[in-house]
Amino acid sequence: MRIVLVGPPGAGKGTQAHLLAKTLSIPHISTGDLFRANIGQGTPLGLEAKGYMDAGRLVPDEVTIGMAKDRMLQSDAANGFLLDGFPRNLGQAKALDEFLAEQGIKLDGVLDLEVPEDEVVKRIAGRRLCRNNGSHVFHVAYNPPKAEGVCDECGGELFQRSDDTEEAVRVRLEEYHSKTEPIIGYYQDQGLLVTIPALGTVDEVTARAIEALKQDS
Ligand code: AMP
Repeated sequence: MRIVLVGPPGAGKGTQAHLLAKTLSIPHISTGDLFRANIGQGTPLGLEAKGYMDAGRLVPDEVTIGMAKDRMLQSDAANGFLLDGFPRNLGQAKALDEFLAEQGIKLDGVLDLEVPEDEVVKRIAGRRLCRNNGSHVFHVAYNPPKAEGVCDECGGELFQRSDDTEEAVRVRLEEYHSKTEPIIGYYQDQGLLVTIPALGTVDEVTARAIEALKQDS
């Protein structure tokens, strides 16, 4: 299966992508995680991306599209993948379509996680990520780790993202509304979009997502 996950920052894309990818046995490809890994390793790509990310802005397409394509061409993605955080604007969506056509493959569905804006802000403020694996996501109130500051899954140190500040979140939401939301209509026109409410427990949302994808494919 080849799936795209969309939704505002804080919708739970990372959490759901991790669980869905495991259930569907496909790799979870998160452009945000790829950028964070590059920043952690101090690569030129990471250095270029960091300023945009810390400000809450989208990293330019020239950098992002090439990085996403390289990842989709890796052998573990040959039979499917779940894209989380890519595409994030119409230019990227069109570049993805061109890439898929070149490879002779198609998307099976686009899953849109819908969540009210006040909930988004609460989720982001309490979010904590694992230093070892960005897919291990916790929340101080909604999904607290067993031991404070320690990842339940691997024992890694939990931290707050540098772009989870109030100012950066405001910019990220603006970027989402102005640049990312238009791709929802683009995929709706292609008959690929399924929208689910992303409220409730993590497991409830995963079950809803699996059900919606089954009906869509
Ligand atoms: P995420 O982890 O998906 O919330 O992404 C964190 C940040 O990485 C975003 O706020 C952007 O600065 C950058 N980023 C991730 N994916 C993309 C993308 N597809 N296009 C541009 N910037 C991106």
